[in-house]
Amino acid sequence: MTNELAIPTASALLSSATAPTQEVFAGRMYIDGKWTESSDEQRFERRSPAHGHVVSSFPEATATDVHAAIKAADGAYRHGTWPKLKGVERARILLAVAEGIKARVEKMSLLESLETGKPLTQARGEVSGCIDLWQYAAGLARTTSGDAYDTLGEDMLGIVLRQPIGVVGMITPWNFPIWILSQKLPFALAAGCTCIVKPSELTSSTTVILMEIMEEAGVPPGVINVVTGKGPTVGQPLAEHPAIDMLSFTGSTRVGSMLGGLASRNLKKVALELGGKNPQIVFPDCDWDAMVDATVFGVYFNAGECCNSGSRVLVHESIAEQFALAVVERARQVPIGDPLHPDCKIGAIVSENQLSDILGNIKKGVAAGARLRLGGKRYDAKGLYLEPTIISDATPDMEIARDEIFGPVLVIVPFKDATHAIEIANDTAYGLSASVWSSDINTCLTVARGVDAGTVWVNTFLDGYPELPFGGFKSSGVGRELGKQAVEDYTETKTIQLHIGERKNWWLPRPAA
Ligand code: NDP
Repeated sequence: MTNELAIPTASALLSSATAPTQEVFAGRMYIDGKWTESSDEQRFERRSPAHGHVVSSFPEATATDVHAAIKAADGAYRHGTWPKLKGVERARILLAVAEGIKARVEKMSLLESLETGKPLTQARGEVSGCIDLWQYAAGLARTTSGDAYDTLGEDMLGIVLRQPIGVVGMITPWNFPIWILSQKLPFALAAGCTCIVKPSELTSSTTVILMEIMEEAGVPPGVINVVTGKGPTVGQPLAEHPAIDMLSFTGSTRVGSMLGGLASRNLKKVALELGGKNPQIVFPDCDWDAMVDATVFGVYFNAGECCNSGSRVLVHESIAEQFALAVVERARQVPIGDPLHPDCKIGAIVSENQLSDILGNIKKGVAAGARLRLGGKRYDAKGLYLEPTIISDATPDMEIARDEIFGPVLVIVPFKDATHAIEIANDTAYGLSASVWSSDINTCLTVARGVDAGTVWVNTFLDGYPELPFGGFKSSGVGRELGKQAVEDYTETKTIQLHIGERKNWWLPRPAA
């Protein structure tokens, strides 16, 4: 397989991709307020996908450990103080966690970068962004409330309570480990829930550090528990165990739908944030430079290992070739290589498996007749790097234009008009996000209303705010995270009907007093 343009020196592998000298992070599990090893004393290691050295090690949890964590969370929910604490007190603790993150930004960012392969500068932005998520959730701990109905007649007052749903199991992926956990955990805690977290085995460090922070912040024992290890042993019981009231999962559509099925057998609530094949829809009247920049950012940010990746660009046929040349030119200038280098924008791919899946997808696309315009192969380097890749002339029916690739691969599909663009955009199983690029407000609104997507960006891409809900249509998931309803998602509704004054009997009249 050959590409038309080789990557030039300007964006070649950044130097100094040698293993940094730093201590191996020795993680432990946190169960019922105690730091523990696995009950069979087994541990596993995580190596840096960029440098190859061991970054961290963790206990490999057994079924016994997972059950201990579930028991602790269940006990803390049924008999502990957390669900009954005043909102203001829970908020104070969440704010203390935010401060704890602030104090450890450097340590957490370095481990996040080394475990994921993402640029350190980007990891810093993510860890710092989590502070805002915890602060926002703290606000909601005080403002989320139920409702009252004074409109039901003189003899009735209706009160609607929002009570914590109970014990929540959380399974998180490797692409944004601490960020995705921070989209879930502070909101569940704000509601008064207790939790068990299973991070990805590839990226568990920052989740463990977060437990240290939570212990210091005064979260009572059992309220939050972390079990480390593999999905089938450690994650699956969180979907199956009857003591768990809700499962919140982020990861692949395949595993999410399997776990959703298991969880529904015991009727737990399920929230799923899954994959995407997000269309960016480009019209000829757009702000060209902004669009080209956002396209390159949208697909190469986090090396494309991003559920929101703008990996599928639908371009009006009149500008499709001009667009391909412009993004190829821009992509060639993006610095790729050692994630610890201050100029790095594209780091390493998370694992050998992920890299070979991505290469397999590229190969399939080219075999199906799409045109490789840039990249498409590994760098000749020690780390797991993939050249930024651009594929044009794809048709909507090709797998490369329909399936999530989860790597730095941009696929360009031409369209004829807005109706055709919406039709192509919606012709996949996914519906996570989309963008539209045009200076015509009518075009923007028509597309924004027409695409199946939980988020639509207009003349921008990948912005995010704790205030705005996030989640997907169709196979991209179930439920929403963030936004002012984020805490409500971790609650049950209870209706109280309060009768006022003397109640009229249904049948026989009330005996005289
Ligand atoms: P997975 O869906 O396999 O992993 C996500 C989480 O689920 C991890 O914590 C994983 O644990 C856990 N898990 C895996 N299998 C099970 C199971 N049988 N029971 C319970 N939990 C389980 O994603 P991958 O890491 O394998 O990535 C594969 C693809 O998934 C990517 O190429 C991408 O397309 C998609 N993906 C989407 C993400 C998103 O943000 N929507 C995030 C990550 C991946 P562990 O890995 O430790 O075994």
